[in-house]
Amino acid sequence: MLTVKDLDVGNKAVLVRVDFNVPLDKQGNITDDSRIVASLPTINYLISKNAKVILVSHLGRPKGKTAEYTLAPCSKRLSELLGKKVLFATDTIGPEVEELVRTMQPGDVLLLENVRFYPAEEKPELDPAFAKSLAKLADLYVNDAFGTAHRAHSSTATVAQYFTGKKAAGFLLQKEIDFLGSLLKNPERPFFAIIGGAKVSTKIGVLKALASKVDVLMIGGAMAYTFLKAQGIQVGSSLVEDSMLETAREILALNKNIYLPEDSVTEDGKTFIGNIPDTCKGMDIGPKTAEKWISALQNAKTVLWNGPVGVFENPNFAKGTHALAKAISELSCTTIIGGGDTVAAVEPFADKFTHVSTGGGATLEFIEFGSLPGIEALST
Ligand code: AMP
Repeated sequence: MLTVKDLDVGNKAVLVRVDFNVPLDKQGNITDDSRIVASLPTINYLISKNAKVILVSHLGRPKGKTAEYTLAPCSKRLSELLGKKVLFATDTIGPEVEELVRTMQPGDVLLLENVRFYPAEEKPELDPAFAKSLAKLADLYVNDAFGTAHRAHSSTATVAQYFTGKKAAGFLLQKEIDFLGSLLKNPERPFFAIIGGAKVSTKIGVLKALASKVDVLMIGGAMAYTFLKAQGIQVGSSLVEDSMLETAREILALNKNIYLPEDSVTEDGKTFIGNIPDTCKGMDIGPKTAEKWISALQNAKTVLWNGPVGVFENPNFAKGTHALAKAISELSCTTIIGGGDTVAAVEPFADKFTHVSTGGGATLEFIEFGSLPGIEALST
């Protein structure tokens, strides 16, 4: 797979798949621009090499074309960040967009309208001509959208088939592949993983993959109660997926160093060691668990973390997650936070981790499969 530096981009039109799927408030203001900021190295590099930069992204999950999901606020913000005018196309493909591209000068940046306004983005089989029309806009293709690289969509995968030998990974995508790839191939050991969050069912693949790879797997969050119940421990009214009890037992059999919470803080503010009474609901790992896990983590050479270990949105149940975040941020080993919500959960310590992955589902699927459709499409 090539990287953007391997392409001769001067004076060429380069279609760049970026991830500008930013959160917006009700007035349409961007509340967190970190995804746009993350794409700047690739965009600035292309500008410096006199490419004509055509950016394509999705925003949200629109049902058809709606003003609510326009990428216009992102073109404004990008313009401020680059300190230069960013052109905005009110469509994603078609004759008017082609005309705009024809008038672009080297170093110009054009942002196309939300690619998900076309149903064929998410379902390429609905209209194969859509990816072809996108491809028609450019000489070269760069994918820098790690956060959507686990989707085989028109702009993340199908379009790449029109750019044999003329496609590459952007700097952000490359950085993620390098980091997560070497983590999976050759982690410094002992390798610890912490997996939390709501459901076993959404993380079975990653739990199985990690259980066979890591030296220690710590399971917290609501999903821990399914594992505890699978071992015959009483979990009261905590969230449990009864259909996953057998899967939980299979995962527990994969690694003898799987740590589960020994105590829990429940909704009424009490702490229970071992069994939780029928009427109580586990909301956070307890202080004994946090202390034991933090002590064990002192031996780690690599730590990967995905998913909060409690209902961190409520300060009463954020103590476990915050205690772990603080302790891990003080370790001198390689520390990686995987994806989306986890970064919010470990604030304000996130910037003290070695690597903060920009993907949510993409990070988990990369760990599970070792590659992603968007990455494969660049290699063929
Ligand atoms: P996920 O998206 O799977 O990483 O799940 C994150 C969500 O899991 C957060 O919104 C947490 O509030 C929730 N969560 C973590 N621990 C618990 C728990 N003990 N009970 C209910 N929800 C939890």
